[in-house]
Amino acid sequence: MPNETFVCENLSVNEQGHLTFAGQDVTHLAAEYGTPLYLMDEERIRHKCRIYREAFEANFAPGSTVLYASKACSFRQIYRIVNEEGLGADVVSLGELCTALSAGFPADKLFFHSNNKTDEDIRYAIEKGIGCFVVDNLEEIRVIEAESARLGRRQKVLLRLTPGIDTHTYEAVNTGKVDSKFGSAIETGQAEQAVVFTLAQPHVNLLGFHCHVGSQVFAEDVFERAAVVMLEFIAAIRKKHGYTASVLNLGGGYGVPYTDRDGSIDIAEKIADVGRTVRETCTRLALPEPVIYMEPGRSIVADAGLTLYTVGTVKTIPGYKNYVSVDGGMTDNPRYALYGSEYTCLTANKLTEEPVMKADLVGRCCESGDVIQPNVAFPDSIRRGDIVAVCTTGAYNYSMASNYNRIPRPPVVLLHEGTAKIAVRRETVEDLMHLDV
Ligand SMILES: *Cc1c(COP(=O)(O)O)cnc(C)c1O
Repeated sequence: MPNETFVCENLSVNEQGHLTFAGQDVTHLAAEYGTPLYLMDEERIRHKCRIYREAFEANFAPGSTVLYASKACSFRQIYRIVNEEGLGADVVSLGELCTALSAGFPADKLFFHSNNKTDEDIRYAIEKGIGCFVVDNLEEIRVIEAESARLGRRQKVLLRLTPGIDTHTYEAVNTGKVDSKFGSAIETGQAEQAVVFTLAQPHVNLLGFHCHVGSQVFAEDVFERAAVVMLEFIAAIRKKHGYTASVLNLGGGYGVPYTDRDGSIDIAEKIADVGRTVRETCTRLALPEPVIYMEPGRSIVADAGLTLYTVGTVKTIPGYKNYVSVDGGMTDNPRYALYGSEYTCLTANKLTEEPVMKADLVGRCCESGDVIQPNVAFPDSIRRGDIVAVCTTGAYNYSMASNYNRIPRPPVVLLHEGTAKIAVRRETVEDLMHLDV
């Protein structure tokens, strides 16, 4: 199988016909660590962080920062890597916040998101010195004002707005429309009311505005359109209320290829386009150029991940279809069940055999929707004990994993310069029973 047919550069095949990932034979890793197994390629994560950081330095105002949206994949070592690469990070819960802090992530480089922060979230985050809240609604502003007054602080915030842009991706990952559970709409006037209300709070420091139009975005100019709508809003507020936002956060969402049918995006080029639009629009509106933040999650970690499974049952139903069952499933990768997401699946120990047999790759949960991917091509010889690799699982797999059917979650092994290290150990049945009384 020639190299260029792989969905990511960090995949290849060795002389034994085995899949390699980050230069390591995955069948050896499966043997050493067991399956199901999440692998993460540290160099790939660093590479993506650098692409973003360099593009930011070249195209946006000084102080502009890349924030890793840590919900895509959250565990201590990821925060360590991202921090070493000079990025900030988004968190959306105390779980993510505490994990980041415990990895040495500076609190002032953390941004707290969520459309429903609890009073406890807000109190704890302010006590820990959180850099900024991305505020969803007025209720939150009231709580932030009260807590920050109590501690004698002036808490930085951004207001999350919906610019009214439809990305035409899957509904559940489309968040920039007016009708959304996130943020305040510019169109309805609620965004302006939120600005006026926030500016009146003595212990809240409004830095600027945030929007996030969606995820897995490939469409040509979504970020440029969002930037124009947001900058026009900033200009309108400046004219009417004399307040000039100094920060514009354009959210995350650049797409990644999961199969060779997907296009790919040149992040550096895309950011150069956004930079040009921001500069031109600021000139047109006679606005000082704001500091720009973006919040990539998926595009930083997705292709740094690979999941390995061991094949159990292979079932042929004459006249219907075939099933290949593996030792994981929707518990470690719910994305097909949730969104119908596509994946590239490879028989990792038999890459030189022609994949001629079509079968659904399914998990071991008591749920007929427990499908990792339908209609996968396997070699005819596929049988119990073979190793199946599902590619591009670095984003929204480990972070969305569950214990349905009391299945323990797989470990995460971090690959770096030819070495392998456990970043998250395998969950045990004892771990699962730990909370039971
Ligand atoms: C999910 C999310 C992101 C990251 O999106 P990706 O598609 O993973 O890049 C960024 N910002 C916000 C507010 C989000 O909800």
